[in-house]
Formats: sequence, structure tokens, C-alpha cells
Amino acid sequence: MKILVINSGSSSIKYQLFDMASKEVMTSGLIERIGLENSRVVHRLYNGGKKREVAKEISVPNHEKGLRIIADLLVDPEHGAITHTSEVDAVGHRVVHGGEHFSATTLIDAEVLKAIRRLIPLAPLHNPPNLEGIEVAMKIFPQARQVAVFDTAFHQTMPPEAYRYAVPNNFYTEHGVRVYGFHGTSHRYVARMAAEYLGKPLEEMNLITAHLGNGASITAIRNGKSVDTSMGFSPLPGLVMGTRSGDIDPAVIFYMAKGVGMSMDEIDTVLNKKSGLLGLAGSSDLRDILKKNEEGNPDAALALALYTYRIKKYIGAYLAVLGQVDALVFTAGVGENSPHIRWHACEGLSHLGISLDREKNEAKIKGITEIHNTESPISVLVIPTNEELEIALQTKALIETAKPL
Ligand code: ADP
Repeated sequence: MKILVINSGSSSIKYQLFDMASKEVMTSGLIERIGLENSRVVHRLYNGGKKREVAKEISVPNHEKGLRIIADLLVDPEHGAITHTSEVDAVGHRVVHGGEHFSATTLIDAEVLKAIRRLIPLAPLHNPPNLEGIEVAMKIFPQARQVAVFDTAFHQTMPPEAYRYAVPNNFYTEHGVRVYGFHGTSHRYVARMAAEYLGKPLEEMNLITAHLGNGASITAIRNGKSVDTSMGFSPLPGLVMGTRSGDIDPAVIFYMAKGVGMSMDEIDTVLNKKSGLLGLAGSSDLRDILKKNEEGNPDAALALALYTYRIKKYIGAYLAVLGQVDALVFTAGVGENSPHIRWHACEGLSHLGISLDREKNEAKIKGITEIHNTESPISVLVIPTNEELEIALQTKALIETAKPL
């Protein structure tokens, strides 16, 4: 079985073609700057451990053209991995917002498309390009099953006390204002990998999973199900991120609007695109901040302190929520690669059952790695995330149980 995974963003399409027998990636790539000047395609072919890459500038005025270029590359005699697009059995689409409508991976039909479209007000930047990717894929791969995997779906198991806000009921009943949570595909994937690694059924595992990338969120998982998460109605709250503020007092927004005179759009842009590490210390890339910190830059030191303090606060909160925890998991760019962040986020938590081994934490991480010390009752694991593989696995599981076309 061959499954194409597509992540269609506003100006980019990322793709990976999986051979599900081996769970190996056959080809992968990315089209960037769709609809802009200097659009670019990068395509990689994997062959027995070897990787061949082509990159070129090419005009890509819209998503349809982008996906046609991808389809041509998949079957290209030199760079492709299949001989005909009909060999793609299914296309798994990343869809950011599934609202309350979608609590699981879903086979796409006309009704599902309508439901995703109805959710656009909740995710105005993400759901439109996700939808476009689906509609174009239906044209280009007409014989393939199309499947939607939602970032929000994993968190639909949260109880009301975790997902409701203490605002008038009509905010929720009429306008859908509640916690949805995001990065669900990654949290679910690392939770499953942690269960496999620790040799215990996922349904019996309590976990705290910290996805620390450009966007960052942390999730409390009880018996394999999400029961709380740090992002909310939008991907803005919670942890300090590359450019997003994470938690702030909402009254800051009123003050900056009414007291200082900023427009709502300006405040929106600042909180989403100019805050976090970038706002505090001038770069959204943690590597730059670590370097500046080593050079003695006080802004960088403060940014790192805020970043790790916020993670620690959430770990403490979720230890209280869960009562008993089997493992804390770090994943994504920062979680997988920064001993500094992991160390300081866990510093002082030994009395709560979390205690790292300095050497293990600092060693180069390859695959799933334990970084706790022998006294730590709670395992601390670094698990490389793989959202594309999770989408492919979810897609495979669904089409195997779905009725034939
Ligand atoms: P995205 O959310 O865009 O998928 P990633 O998961 O790739 O993001 O994470 C990006 C972040 O990971 C950046 O802040 C980057 O600095 C950080 N990162 C990547 N490699 C390292 C490293 N070796 N050390 C510290 N941080 C790293």
C-alpha cells in the first residue's frame, strides 16, 4: 500500500510518499512560495538508505499547479518512486481544525468537505489551504481514498472542566469558544511510541508530552487519552514559542488597544508573529538564543528563563491533574535537540518524581532515548516526532476498515 501525505499551507505544500509495508518514505518534498515570485520545489528520492535531492525554482501560481508538479515528480523516470499516480492508494491530509465535529480521522466525502468549510471561521489561516489541498488532490488522484487527519481530534477527549472557559455559556453554545488544542497528531504519535518503548498498553499509560517546535504545546494524557493541553481556542496560549506569546492576561490586549492605541490587527500580529523568543531576545530560533546567552546577552538569558519556567509550570500542573505519571516526553525541534531546555524545565522537580541524568540528557539523541536518572520514578524520554508517519498510519488504519469504493 502506498500513501501520500499532504500538508497544504497557505503558501506551501509538503508531501511524503510512504510504502506502508516497510513504513519507509519513498519520496518527500516541499513546494514553497506558492503564488509568489521565486516559487521553489525541493524533491527527495530515497533509495536503499541513499537520498537524491533536486531543487529548482519554478513558477507555481496556485495549489493546483503545485500538486500537479508533485504528481509529475512522483512518477518522474529519474526522480520518481512510482510509475503511475494510480499506484497511490490513499492521500492523507493534515487538517488543522476539526472543531467539535471531528474527533477522529475521517474519510473525506462531500459532507466532510462542507463541515471543514464550516469550520473556516475557527481557523481562517489554516483550513482554507488545507481544503484547497484536498480538493486538488481529489482531481489529481481520483482513484485514491482521501482521508483527513485533524490536529484537534486527539484533544476531543478532554473533559468540560478542561475545555470550557469561565465565560457566559453563549460564547460556547453560539460561537464555539472553548479549548480545542493543537499538535494532536504529534502528541498522539509520541504517546504511542512511549507506550511501545515502555512495554505497557497505551490505554494504561499516563503521560505528559511536550511538543517544543516553533509552535509549542504540552498535553496531559490519562489512559492514553488527552485530558488537558496548553493551547486553547487558538494555537496562541500556553508555552512561550518562537514568535507567539503563549499565556498572557487578556486584559493586556484591552490596555494596548484602549490605553496605548494599537489596532486589534496590530496586537494580533504582535502576539502571534513578534512575541515569544523573537519578542524577548530578537530571534525565533532557539539556537540563536542559546548562542546569545553563551555570549552573555541578558535578553537571551531572560528568554530562556521564561521559556523553561513556563514549561515547568505546566509540568507541575499536569502532574497534579494526572496524579500518577509514567513518563514525561520531549519532542519536536527544541524538545529533541536542546539539553539546556530539557534540563532547566525539569530542574528542581525531583521531589515530584522527575529527575534527569546530566550525561544522558547531553548525549546526542538518536531514536527514543531515556534521559532520567536511576532515582527518577517518572521516566523522561526524548522521542523524535513523525507527524507525517502518524498521518499515514491513521490513513492506512481507516481505509482498511472502511467499505470499498
Ligand atoms: P516546526 O514547529 O516549524 O515544525 P521544529 O519542530 O522544526 O519546528 O522546531 C524548530 C525549533 O527547533 C527552532 O527553534 C530551532 O531553533 C530548534 N532547534 C532545532 N535544532 C536545534 C538544536 N540542535 N538545538 C537547539 N534547538 C534546535
